[in-house]
Amino acid sequence: MNPDNIRIVLVNTTHPGNIGAVARAMKNMGLARLYLVEPRVFPHEEADWRAASAQDVLAHAVVCATLDDAIGDCQFVVGTSARERRIPWPLLDARQCAQRAARASVNEQVALVFGREDRGLTNDELKCCNLHLNIPSDPAYSSLNLAMAVQVVTYELRMLAVAGSLPVEQDEQWDAPFATRDNMERFYTHLEETLVDIEFLDPAAPRQLMARLRRLYSRVRLDEMELNILRGILTETQKWVKKARKTEG
Ligand code: SAH
Repeated sequence: MNPDNIRIVLVNTTHPGNIGAVARAMKNMGLARLYLVEPRVFPHEEADWRAASAQDVLAHAVVCATLDDAIGDCQFVVGTSARERRIPWPLLDARQCAQRAARASVNEQVALVFGREDRGLTNDELKCCNLHLNIPSDPAYSSLNLAMAVQVVTYELRMLAVAGSLPVEQDEQWDAPFATRDNMERFYTHLEETLVDIEFLDPAAPRQLMARLRRLYSRVRLDEMELNILRGILTETQKWVKKARKTEG
């Protein structure tokens, strides 16, 4: 595991106190990379106060305009959610997720994404993730305070760091680097365009097609070479569609 490759991303946090408490939770568990996507108020004395001796984590926090900016260079992204969503994604608890994240962190950039205090993450934001993490809290009141949720997840990472070596998994010996978020987004745009070109996808009634395809590809995890092959197939398909349209017209 390499904690330097793991970042905690907070999306649209409302209360600066929570940001400070997250910084403290992170530093206690040996993590230092905090990304803030459009925080409502930051910096703020309440954040400093709640961070206690973790003000260095706040000082180095990266403030981003969009979630894409915060996770674009990551190969492995985990979204956290207190409740079930319409299209279920691979869902793990904090312990299982920590194992996957710790393994990925050896060679890859890993992001753990946390949502807004009032509404969590949007479905679109959750669709950018390889995995969803749910802390199996009591369904009668399932939503934890943001910093408490970060604490639970980072504690599980800490337990793995303290335990030492993880068993080596197939992924670690893969021969090509896994695709980054940015490249996956370019692929999804290209795929959607092509599916419209071949009239498989009706832009007027897209249903959940793209969400399901995203889920498929994020479950498999493409490497950069596989991604290039798929992009090549899409480009050729578009070329042939154009040719066919010309001869039709
Ligand atoms: N009402 C919101 C809860 C937001 S709590 C919702 O339904 O999603 C703020 C953030 O804390 C969440 O976006 C998530 O990142 C984290 N969180 C809170 N409870 C959690 C749980 N049980 N499992 C995983 N993450 C949780």
